[in-house]
Amino acid sequence: MHQTIVQLGEPILRKQTKMLSIQEIESKEVQDLIETMKETMRKAPGVGLAAPQIGKNLQLAVIEDRKEYTDHFPQHILNERQRVPVEFHVIINPTLTILDPTPLFFFEGCLSLAGICRITPRANRVRVECLDENANKKIIEATGWYARILQHEIDHLNGKLFIDHADQKTEIVLNEMTRKKWLQASQKDIYEYYLEHVKK
Ligand code: ZN
Repeated sequence: MHQTIVQLGEPILRKQTKMLSIQEIESKEVQDLIETMKETMRKAPGVGLAAPQIGKNLQLAVIEDRKEYTDHFPQHILNERQRVPVEFHVIINPTLTILDPTPLFFFEGCLSLAGICRITPRANRVRVECLDENANKKIIEATGWYARILQHEIDHLNGKLFIDHADQKTEIVLNEMTRKKWLQASQKDIYEYYLEHVKK
């Protein structure tokens, strides 16, 4: 069963989440929660969902970037975002290390800020140490869009949202058509638009 996704303005999105013990991870309650989060993320659809987004104050997130989500994207746009499919997986009690801080500027959105996207800089490469759904230790190294997703989801576990990273003078895109346009725009077009119309 999928759940309603909590929207901006609910205090749970701003709370520091609690770590899970191995016993808790193995419990039926948490295993059921992971299933609910998977279904909720797929139904939305989204490429990641953190526990606070369905009202659970826990250091747990699910991630999955399916090929079908980007079938209609031109290949050069995917290349520029370094966006490749990512299989479903769970991150629990993650710690994030920035391996390459070079910022990549793209429009980013969030299921908890429905309809909004904004230019958000993210580090190019990260390492995440975490536990998986079986409480096994896992190390993930990721670049590009997957690194962006990891940074976004781990932010949620620390009460942060993508709007906290965006330049305060960055465009907010609300309309569905302009959102589609900017989510598939080249970095050059985004930067030129920003310099010409926003930052001036
Ligand atoms: Zn989000």
